[in-house]
Amino acid sequence: MTPDLMEAGAKRLAAAQSAHATGVTESGGRRAGYGRPVTAGEVDVAHGRILYLEDVHVAFDGFKAINGLNLDIAPGELRCVIGPNGAGKTTMMDIITGKTRPDSGTVFFGSTIDLLRYREADIAAMGIGRKFQKPTVFEELSVFENLELALATDKGVRRSMAFALNGEQKDRLAEVLSTIHLRDSAARQAGELSHGQKQWLEIGMLLMQDPKLLLLDEPVAGMTDEETERTAQLFLSLKGRHSLMVVEHDMNFIRAISEKVTVLCDGAVLAEGTLDEVQADERVIEVYLGR
Ligand code: ADP
Ligand code: MG
Repeated sequence: MTPDLMEAGAKRLAAAQSAHATGVTESGGRRAGYGRPVTAGEVDVAHGRILYLEDVHVAFDGFKAINGLNLDIAPGELRCVIGPNGAGKTTMMDIITGKTRPDSGTVFFGSTIDLLRYREADIAAMGIGRKFQKPTVFEELSVFENLELALATDKGVRRSMAFALNGEQKDRLAEVLSTIHLRDSAARQAGELSHGQKQWLEIGMLLMQDPKLLLLDEPVAGMTDEETERTAQLFLSLKGRHSLMVVEHDMNFIRAISEKVTVLCDGAVLAEGTLDEVQADERVIEVYLGR
């Protein structure tokens, strides 16, 4: 692995490192009063919630992208979120991960961590992993090296490229390889993988940090039917150990994985329930599913 690749990896992946610099978010906004980053093990879920949003609002140039959003997710839950384009699904994830600061409202991780007090890198370090729509694996590295890089959050380790994985990390890497169905492809270059396999690899990179909560934005877009089916199995195998929030338009996929489904529209929750319940809801049919 070359040093500049390691540095690139640092930039992108070492969100898992706490930074104490400027206090300026990606969007340029200043976050008030930073708290001490906590480790994933400290999240208090005694009240039965891993994530809690109450009356969240954010407007962009007067346009209310998130408008009175209330949502909570239980530890180990796999929550599906559906809704028309522009409903605010991605913006909701931006708020949870600290990329966008809401104008008002409450966002808690567990019952004690006020996420609005933390920056993006700290939030990732606390155990909230995010998968964006487009896979961003390092194409020129092997599958194994990509997963290894996901662990290299320590600057000194990255500089020296001294990747001596400890026993626990080796076990984790092997476990993740098998979870994401890439055990037989560990030595392959990531660039040679199919689109679906790249998506799984990126999920694997998130899993290396053993996140408490995983946010996945349109994970099966562009996948073949078979890849979609395998991704459903993968997500089902992740719930329990992790909490997941999955945004998708693919209703067959949602049907395969869903317990509780949240329908988002105009920046707020329109309906919530089983997929059958929300699909039978007149308002949901009106705005999203069509007649
Ligand atoms: P979804 O993911 O449900 O399709 P988004 O959260 O991407 O919806 O977008 C919700 C609305 O907010 C859209 O109208 C989008 O154009 C707008 N929006 C999202 N992010 C920004 C931003 N950073 N600046 C301005 N408008 C934005
Ligand atoms: Mg979106």
